[in-house]
Amino acid sequence: MLPSISRAAVDLNQLQLEKAIQLLQHAGMPIVRPQAGLEVEYIQTLIDALCRVSSIDPLTGLTNRRQLLLVLERELNRVLRATEDALLLMVDIDHFKQVNDTYGHLAGDAVLCALAKALLSCVRPMDTVARYGGEEFAVVCPNCDPGYGQLVGERIRQKVAQLAVPIDSGALLQVTVSCGGAYAPKWIRSGAEAWLARADAQLYLAKAGGRNQVQIESPLHSVVSAEEKSMLFAAASDISPTSAALPTASIYLSDT
Ligand code: GH3
Ligand code: MG
Ligand code: MG
Repeated sequence: MLPSISRAAVDLNQLQLEKAIQLLQHAGMPIVRPQAGLEVEYIQTLIDALCRVSSIDPLTGLTNRRQLLLVLERELNRVLRATEDALLLMVDIDHFKQVNDTYGHLAGDAVLCALAKALLSCVRPMDTVARYGGEEFAVVCPNCDPGYGQLVGERIRQKVAQLAVPIDSGALLQVTVSCGGAYAPKWIRSGAEAWLARADAQLYLAKAGGRNQVQIESPLHSVVSAEEKSMLFAAASDISPTSAALPTASIYLSDT
């Protein structure tokens, strides 16, 4: 619990808000003016805007890597308790360096922005599309049945292959992507890094297989008894998502 502050104690002149306001203006966020008696609301608006700025990628407007890690942890926690499946797809532009080398970085940036839009158009509003870094993107699909992973990846691959991105010289650029996907493990406490690594391993296979293709890991199948599941629920409700370990010795994994 945060300590409560009385309204009278909030004096905006004592706070150094200039940098925060500058940053928000630079990011194109609308800035409201403080009103007497509404100082708390004003500060809350600034904090909300700062949170937003710190969670998006400035070039594409997608979720950034920092926020993606939070989304992955949240999904892992949900899958641990629920019967839903969650898919993580890593999407990497093929031979993107050639685009930069041939047409310049601004053209490369235009391709990244067009790709971001294309990815958003391929998924549901509940899904998260993030720029993981450089020319690599991540798509998190909660509640995604194992049979759909390949379908979602293919939809993305085909959509991107059909893109023609206009650049300043008048040329239309075309790119392809390789996709690697992995499902969150069920009934096992895991971490975002491990999930990313599994999806990345599939992406590597897609690249090695010739690029412009989709590779999805076969979903891990965990065999957990009803009694073990109830222990898991009890433990999960007692602890914070990232702290204490859950019982793992009695959880068995098979590829079936
Ligand atoms: P591969 O098919 O193996 O993925 O090859 P690639 O050329 O796509 O991969 P590589 O890692 O060799 O090159 C990635 C390039 O992405 C190099 C880097 O200059 C470019 N890049 C990374 N971030 C940005 C960016 O923000 N804007 C632009 N224009 N280019 C970027
Ligand atoms: Mg690449
Ligand atoms: Mg890459």
